[in-house]
Amino acid sequence: MPDALLGEFDVIRLFADLAAPSHPWVRQGIGDDCAVLDLGGERCLLVTKDLLCEGVHFLRGTTTPRQLGWKSLAVNVSDIAAMGGRPLAAFLGLGLDAAEPAFTVGFRDGFLACARAHGIDLLGGDTVRVPRDSVISVTLLGEVARGELVRRAGARAGDAIALGGPVGLSAAGLWLLSAGAQPLDPARRETLVRAHLEPQPQVALGRWIAGRGVATAMIDVSDGLLQDLGHLCAAAGLGARILADALPAPDALAAAAALPGAPTASDWALAGGEDYVLLFTVPPERTAELIEGARRDLGLALTVVGAM
Ligand code: ADP
Ligand code: MG
Repeated sequence: MPDALLGEFDVIRLFADLAAPSHPWVRQGIGDDCAVLDLGGERCLLVTKDLLCEGVHFLRGTTTPRQLGWKSLAVNVSDIAAMGGRPLAAFLGLGLDAAEPAFTVGFRDGFLACARAHGIDLLGGDTVRVPRDSVISVTLLGEVARGELVRRAGARAGDAIALGGPVGLSAAGLWLLSAGAQPLDPARRETLVRAHLEPQPQVALGRWIAGRGVATAMIDVSDGLLQDLGHLCAAAGLGARILADALPAPDALAAAAALPGAPTASDWALAGGEDYVLLFTVPPERTAELIEGARRDLGLALTVVGAM
């Protein structure tokens, strides 16, 4: 939230209102998970950028440098996945308050591990010293076949709303990190904390969905299911109905929600954020085929959680 009076989306609108693209090759500007540039040929270029600020998005005390490096790139990879694309090349901006070798080397190792996992080359960046509170700014380029691009806009009334994985785990992990010692089974705690600190963007799923041409709209869940579904709704001019009972309910989430003082599992699932799973809409007659196909081809359980 950059200003006491203007929210994040107010600020974006201030720019977007006066920044209509002038080039004919801009297929998508401000307003989706990535910008899309169609430079001719079969493929479109995808561009996305995310910023992580110390004290807002991470605390040195609750993440390892390696996890922070991984997450800094992973959150951008997720935006490429949300367009059905494949990541290609990263640019890394670092504003470091104190370039301790151990921190920087750990960060590098995590960042490059994520890059290797997704076939991304680090091609540039910028590095500065800041007086306090480090800032990490990653720009990521990707590609998508022109005919396979999936955007936030496009959902139709009656489309099923599907999730690529459970939501709420990351928020529960964040709560555990800030709540001090809790009587929770260590394996469950690990599941939740890792969901928060080491997100796994769903590139394979995004490409699989895009290749089949079944999704009418797609976004990744970064701000929370309700808010991100709200973006799909706004882009389509539709409302949505979510069935709370249909949400994936992993054991670890239920166990954490039963701890004293904890939010409910559905609060975490609906409003938590930072899950980086894909949220997409499909014509209702194709959901069964899609669920079966994802299980067969990717070993992944998709869940239908409602309808547009
Ligand atoms: P995401 O959660 O997928 O990263 P956001 O909700 O942060 O997307 O951003 C929504 C849209 O606004 C995106 O298209 C993003 O590129 C754009 N955007 C965000 N901040 C700015 C800014 N300061 N100037 C121009 N565009 C912005
Ligand atoms: Mg996104």
